[in-house]
Amino acid sequence: MAKDKEFVKEITPQDEDFSKWYIDVITKSQLMDYSPVRGCIVFRPDGYELWEACQRELDQRFKATGHRNAYFPLFIPESFFEREKEHIEGFNPELPWVTEVGDDKLEERLAVRPTSETIIGHMYSQWIQSYRDLPLLLNQWANVVRWEKRTLPFIRTSEFLWQEGHTAHATAEEAQEETLRMLDVYTEFMEEVLSVPVIRGQKTPSEKFPGAVATYSIEAMMRDGKAIQAGTSHNLGQNFASSFKIEFLDKDNERKLAHTTSWGMSTRILGALIMVHGDDRGLQLPPRIAPTQMMVIPIGPAKMREHVVPAAHELVATLRKVGYRVGIDDREDVSPGWKFNEYEMRGIPLRIELGPRDLAADQVVVVRRDTGEKLIVPVSELTERVSVLLDEIQRSLFERARAFREEHSGPVETMEELHKRVRESRGFALAGWCGDDACEAAVKEQTGATSRNVPFEPPAKQKTCVNCHKPATHTVWFGRAY
Ligand code: AMP
Ligand code: ZN
Repeated sequence: MAKDKEFVKEITPQDEDFSKWYIDVITKSQLMDYSPVRGCIVFRPDGYELWEACQRELDQRFKATGHRNAYFPLFIPESFFEREKEHIEGFNPELPWVTEVGDDKLEERLAVRPTSETIIGHMYSQWIQSYRDLPLLLNQWANVVRWEKRTLPFIRTSEFLWQEGHTAHATAEEAQEETLRMLDVYTEFMEEVLSVPVIRGQKTPSEKFPGAVATYSIEAMMRDGKAIQAGTSHNLGQNFASSFKIEFLDKDNERKLAHTTSWGMSTRILGALIMVHGDDRGLQLPPRIAPTQMMVIPIGPAKMREHVVPAAHELVATLRKVGYRVGIDDREDVSPGWKFNEYEMRGIPLRIELGPRDLAADQVVVVRRDTGEKLIVPVSELTERVSVLLDEIQRSLFERARAFREEHSGPVETMEELHKRVRESRGFALAGWCGDDACEAAVKEQTGATSRNVPFEPPAKQKTCVNCHKPATHTVWFGRAY
């Protein structure tokens, strides 16, 4: 046991230093490693598998809402960026450029894409001629590059993996519907698959996507009370359509500009998943996303291995046949205690122990990662019990995260209260805002908190601006953000 305890000690407790805890967890569980390139990480198989699981879940939802996948080039000609002024101003500081090939200088510099509105807008202008070509609903899975000054694995990297949806519509109403529909898809995915509760709302003008008319986001609270913007959906209005001449002949025989949207979710959500559910023992993965949902571990004296190990493999086969993702660790030279710690640290939702006495009694011991609860389950009931348990864990992780967020957020009237909320009590503050950029900037300057979003469903309406105390036009969530 002494050795087991030592093992757990290698992870810095969350309360001692949350950032250190995060790095300890993601490196020790081998999700990622740092690379020799600044701000760029390596996804190790366990981390990449998590992303693949997210991709599968999202992709299925995109297709169910009528989208198809396509792929556009990694390089974007400089002239494309110049067509949308706000867009280039927003992204310019983070753009890497390809300027030469071999010994030859390129005639036109090529940006490594930070996002693909421009090149996709260009292609859309050629593909869209008539109202019959609309709506055009595409998604791209890709890597993008934004040369970030401050980086943190998964959450903000210079190269990251994501999906970007790009759609074009005949009317403003349809574009707005699409923008909100995809925010709903993101919400459902975060809450039901990742068990991460999110706040849906609209970004303030200073936080909106460069070139968008309106940006909507979903925001989640980490275990240290800080916010992560988990996904964004933009109504681009006719801005990109006008820069890239996405025009169509409408039913009434008039030439019109299309209305476009874009929406993106990145490998940042893995960081959110880890920071929302993880604890001092390590990772904690919700069953629906966990690449391995349960680990079978044969235990007992060496002389019993010839009976226990084959029975454990049989269990695995039975569970896999029903569709569960099951692993087994039957290594002889590693102690059960070490294995228990290891798989807890890796966040696997259930552990199934099988020893000689269990074997004789036709039962197994099932241990929950979330509560540590041990259950004795007859083998004949195992597949059914496991199904109920996994659902319960999925739900209870969500409830735990929601309760945490609720405990750590609340309305504030003054700047002092806001400061206290986001610093001392570490959480989100719901504040009134008059709509003036200067007041929003004052909050950031005095408290370090940024506006997260103007929530669709605020728990309360705030009447006066937290900075100038004039009548509030908006109720805004503020929080310190990653
Ligand atoms: P955007 O195109 O700026 O709306 O970005 C779409 C989503 O990608 C954002 O909502 C973030 O969750 C995520 N994201 C933005 N920048 C980064 C980054 N440097 N690293 C990882 N994820 C990012
Ligand atoms: Zn104000």
